Amino acid sequence: MPFLTQLADVARRTGHPVTEVGGWKTRGHGPQPEVKGIVCHHTAGPAAGGDYPSLAVVRDGRPGLDGPLSHFGLGRSGHVYVIAAGRCWHNAPSTSPQHTNSSSIGIEAENDGSQPWPAVQLDAYRKLCAELCREFGLPASRVKAHREVNTAKPDPHSIDMNDFRAAVAALVNGAPAPGPTGPPGPTWTEDILRELPLIRLGDDNYDVKTVRGCLFARGHVPPTAYAGIQDGLEGWLKTTQCDNGLVELVRGFQRAEGIDEDGLVGPATWAPLLRV
Ligand SMILES: [Zn+2]
Repeated sequence: MPFLTQLADVARRTGHPVTEVGGWKTRGHGPQPEVKGIVCHHTAGPAAGGDYPSLAVVRDGRPGLDGPLSHFGLGRSGHVYVIAAGRCWHNAPSTSPQHTNSSSIGIEAENDGSQPWPAVQLDAYRKLCAELCREFGLPASRVKAHREVNTAKPDPHSIDMNDFRAAVAALVNGAPAPGPTGPPGPTWTEDILRELPLIRLGDDNYDVKTVRGCLFARGHVPPTAYAGIQDGLEGWLKTTQCDNGLVELVRGFQRAEGIDEDGLVGPATWAPLLRV
């Protein structure tokens, strides 16, 4: 594997701002041999001093350890700094073969080691890990805290890595990430649910037919429901009016789903009806 010159593009897919730190494409302790894991760190830098005061240290190193120390820096504002495309000295000795310096990517997030994490920084942290998982074909289980793969390290502090990995997995398996411009958009299912109206007794529109079709597809329309209707099931499915019979079927569906039996088809009912 050569120098990872795609890392800036990968970072931009998070939707968070990205700075390409000068010289990053050729910076590294040689090329990156392989990418089998991702290691999350905190910088243990100053408590103040701006968005990413540890940049110079992560890029250039510190006494006894030459830089670069990680591929990415992550600012308090969620700003991503792309620092190196080659191998970095961020985890040695590693207790995991997938998380050595030669087999993993390092992310150094600005934090003094005890201060609270800004929500926007955590959002960027999860999204950056998710985009790296996508790029390198890794499961979210390969995202590790430094403390999980190195017995001498405490970082990153106070982040529950099981929760973190679950969120990364949801991002990897969920909707595609937003493009490089603009904030993250809703998923297509959220979009659809937002467009669907509330259906209640007395309504007369085409969305009522959608409710009927979904209830039938879910097995919640017994033959007795359409026994007396002209054209039987076909006629029942075409009916655009929300009548008492339909409301009762909606209640039965809500009961089966364990949601509020109000007979109204709103977001809480549309979601299981559409199985999203
Ligand atoms: Zn670390």
